[in-house]
Amino acid sequence: MIRVGVPRALLYYQYYPMWKTFFESLGAEVVVSPTTTQAMVSSGASRVVAETCLPAKVFLGHTLTLADKCDFMFIPVVRSVRKKTYNCSKFLGLPDMCRAVIPESPPILEPEIDVNRGQRDLYLAIYRLGRRFTWNPRKVKQAAQAAWQSHLDYLNLMSSDKLTPPQAIERLTGTSQPSLFGDRLEIPLNPFRVNLQDEPPFTKGDIPHSPVSHSLEKRNGQKKNSEMSGTHKATIAVIGHSYILYDEHISHRIIHRLEQAGAKVLTPDMLMRQELEAAVIKITGRVYWTQEEEVVGAGVHYLESAVDGIIGLTTFGCGPDSLMMDVVRRQATKLKNVPFMSLTLDEHTAEGGLITRLEAFLDMLQRKKRGKSEVCASA
Ligand code: SF4
Repeated sequence: MIRVGVPRALLYYQYYPMWKTFFESLGAEVVVSPTTTQAMVSSGASRVVAETCLPAKVFLGHTLTLADKCDFMFIPVVRSVRKKTYNCSKFLGLPDMCRAVIPESPPILEPEIDVNRGQRDLYLAIYRLGRRFTWNPRKVKQAAQAAWQSHLDYLNLMSSDKLTPPQAIERLTGTSQPSLFGDRLEIPLNPFRVNLQDEPPFTKGDIPHSPVSHSLEKRNGQKKNSEMSGTHKATIAVIGHSYILYDEHISHRIIHRLEQAGAKVLTPDMLMRQELEAAVIKITGRVYWTQEEEVVGAGVHYLESAVDGIIGLTTFGCGPDSLMMDVVRRQATKLKNVPFMSLTLDEHTAEGGLITRLEAFLDMLQRKKRGKSEVCASA
């Protein structure tokens, strides 16, 4: 059986169920790399110049891990999945980059996905990919249809069952995946030094069962400010790309840490595409980058949703994010209603420093809330 390697990085979080269904329908076996480790990051980083963005280094690390475990490496060139909206250029150059710096990689399957070139080109790209496994065009068509259905099921599952991408992938595909922020963690119940003397003590119920159990709970667009606070001590939006937020090695489990400190965490996944798009258009006039919605769209939307604070996660070496996070920062400065903090992560980011910044941010939110309630009480 032909084995196809899929690196657990970048677009994996958006499309893995679809890819898996396609290849398995054509009789191939799909091999996924394990969750990110420091060794993977270091091996990926060792092959490229330091300025390369961290997620790309992580991707290379995953590709290296798979190099001797599969017959083909699947690295699609996803140029555009919506009219006149484009992916970051890194996605376009990934196969070339991997070929250049990982000569031990098996042959790369690199279909080019660009809806701007029309349906015929898209179908041809899929057919050429399928021909590696079968000469029967009907089988390729059936595999593509099953794959598309799988993608829709994936989106629906996340929406209806309030799952994160890794949780939905595990449920749908049965792919064994270590729990997002599972047993290998030993995080204290309250890792922050937030002064909670005026707050009710933490109870078990304050800590969500899942580290990102918040996920998608508002995808149906019914969120209201009153719903946002609930029993939580603060509502914090964490914005950034899914391959940063849900890769617990890159993100240092920030979502989990915030939830353990009693915060309710909102992410871009919870918003409908129309909401994200509308927020981007309001600020920049049009959506040019696909990734813009996860940063500008989510950031601007949450700024206007009266959350208590917003944390932007970006990674070292990301050109688009340096612009997009700045748009959110400037909007936050203009509106002056929601504190915004941007964190830049790289392969050397020390957990201690990160926790200190989170502590300070939460301290500040607590003081702000307390100040407000004191004003209300004396009024
Ligand atoms: S958007 Fe930024 S982090 Fe993502 S692949 Fe492009 S450069 Fe890297």
